[in-house]
Amino acid sequence: HPQRETHSFQAEIQQLLSLVINSLYSHQEIFLRELVSNASDALDKLRFRAITEPELLKDESALELRIIPDADKGTLTIEDTGIGMTHDELVKNLGTIAHSGSREFLQALAQKGQKDMQLIGQFGVGFYSAYLVADRVDVVSRAAGESTAWRWASEAHGTFTVEPAEKATRGTAITLHLKADQKEFLDEWKLRQLITQYSDYVGHPIKLQVTKHVGSGETQATETALEVVNKASALWQRPKSDITDEQYQEFYKHLTHDYDQPLAWTHFKADGTQQFTGLLFVPKHPPFDLNSQQQRGVRLFVKRVFIMDRCEDLVPQWLRFVRGVIDSDDLPLNVSREMLQDSAVVRSIRKHVVKKSLDLLEKMAKDKPDDYRTFWESFGTVVKEGLTLETEYREKLGALVRYETSREEGLTSLADYVTRMKEGQEAIYYVYGESRKAVADSPHLESLKHRGYEVLFMTDPVDEWAAQGLREFQGKPLVSALNADLKLQSTDEQKKEKEQHSEGLKGLTDRMKDVLREDVREVRVSDRLTDSPVCLVVSEGGSPAYLERLLKERGK
Ligand code: ADP
Ligand code: MG
Repeated sequence: HPQRETHSFQAEIQQLLSLVINSLYSHQEIFLRELVSNASDALDKLRFRAITEPELLKDESALELRIIPDADKGTLTIEDTGIGMTHDELVKNLGTIAHSGSREFLQALAQKGQKDMQLIGQFGVGFYSAYLVADRVDVVSRAAGESTAWRWASEAHGTFTVEPAEKATRGTAITLHLKADQKEFLDEWKLRQLITQYSDYVGHPIKLQVTKHVGSGETQATETALEVVNKASALWQRPKSDITDEQYQEFYKHLTHDYDQPLAWTHFKADGTQQFTGLLFVPKHPPFDLNSQQQRGVRLFVKRVFIMDRCEDLVPQWLRFVRGVIDSDDLPLNVSREMLQDSAVVRSIRKHVVKKSLDLLEKMAKDKPDDYRTFWESFGTVVKEGLTLETEYREKLGALVRYETSREEGLTSLADYVTRMKEGQEAIYYVYGESRKAVADSPHLESLKHRGYEVLFMTDPVDEWAAQGLREFQGKPLVSALNADLKLQSTDEQKKEKEQHSEGLKGLTDRMKDVLREDVREVRVSDRLTDSPVCLVVSEGGSPAYLERLLKERGK
């Protein structure tokens, strides 16, 4: 083969492949979900490009997937009529990792053990799951609009080959040469079951090639036929009453490649000034790259046509864990990222998304406190960013935040805190510190505790910032125990006593001020301490502690 090229896999891929091949994993069947998902993406991409280049559809108009088992050859082929890949795309997409998460994936895999092979799709390396069941994979692809096709082939031993191939129509055909012990994936019923379980809601027809026995006795023969085995309609467009919980859950997994169930979801149709359908999910666990820019947004469709993944304009930063689909009837099909940024339609959809997400969380907090705790542990720190960024949702967010407190009984809501406030207590008190231990032992708590006041423990770097964003809850101001102007109600008698005290100790405080001149602004007699002799406080108008710490970290 004079035209056959041999390429080496990128080091990470090689490492991944040897993990896939050399370990005995359960859930091998996820390969089908991954390959079907890639084929479905390829069909989506083609439909999107055909909006502006209709000629791409000319040699083959059907947009579909075909699954073809061949018992004689021991192969399973997954074929699509999608966008296809050029020579260079084959080399790049199936030989290197585009996604920056590869290293994290390998680490996560090594740490967590075999069960997490299910994670593979989340890291943008789903294609390689083919090697869970196959010892050789052939990919024949012809890019839409091109006249030549290419064959990519590999046994996953460090290299793959690419050479010219014959293919009559556009799209990709992936042929798996199944390992001897994986022949069950040739079984029609097994395939049917897997497709219904994992891929029922894929928006394109999935056709399974089935073998039929016709005639009887002497004239008996077999013939094959393609049978559509999924519903092939977008799940979110079906009426809620027709969708089971299992279908919502599988759709979520298809969308996110998460192997866990979602914690909650909301499915709605907006028919106000904007017409659109939304299906939003709250995951159980944070993805490995929760804080990366890529982890933001939901999938955008316009009139059932896939437009883009992770459309960040539809979801604010502080709801970046929300996953799902928005299908708008009002946006133009040829909408671009730039247009989305200042579109009134998008702003209105985004508002709706925020409202629906907050309602969903509120409901979860009320009806399923255990789920809500799981949610808060996973994403509470993200939600708190909203307090500082958007005043509009302050009240709703105030009802969602949870803190540990000096009561030592786990997380509490502010509403519950308020019901426990002591007679005469006018504020919600909090103490901020680097660790739970640091705040629990803080001398700033002494006088508050002495009065029987409960104090919120804030240990998340975003907390103090968030508390300043929230400012008050149910009319009660949030007050930091660290602030110098903390004014606790005291009786006239107590005040007099304090004054006398200050007078008596004036010699001492003046002397201290003198010695510490460089480091402190003032030395005062305080009635906030009961057990400790001294504590440092932030002076009025001084920068808050978190800012000081932040500046120090940055070396300013
Ligand atoms: P991901 O789907 O997360 O990008 P995969 O490992 O599943 O990661 O696939 C890698 C890339 O290979 C895809 O992004 C796509 O560009 C390309 N690809 C895989 N399968 C197909 C296909 N059937 N048709 C066209 N391109 C494909
Ligand atoms: Mg994929």
